[in-house]
Amino acid sequence: MKVVVNADKCEGHGKCEKAAPAVFKLGDDDVSRVLVDDVPESQRGQVDAAIRLCPRQAIAWERP
Ligand code: SF4
Repeated sequence: MKVVVNADKCEGHGKCEKAAPAVFKLGDDDVSRVLVDDVPESQRGQVDAAIRLCPRQAIAWERP
């Protein structure tokens, strides 16, 4: 499954990176980047946590 960050909403708090460090990484511009195309099953709980913790609701699963 694919996860996306809305760069217009992201304010660089970094909670996503803390919750799922293998999936999100803050860039130099303080916008979170998604590191993987397809989130492995083992990481999905961490991504769900990142979605819940993001204060800007900037993260979402991409539904096909
Ligand atoms: S938690 Fe949300 S606002 Fe903060 S860096 Fe991650 S995507 Fe951006």
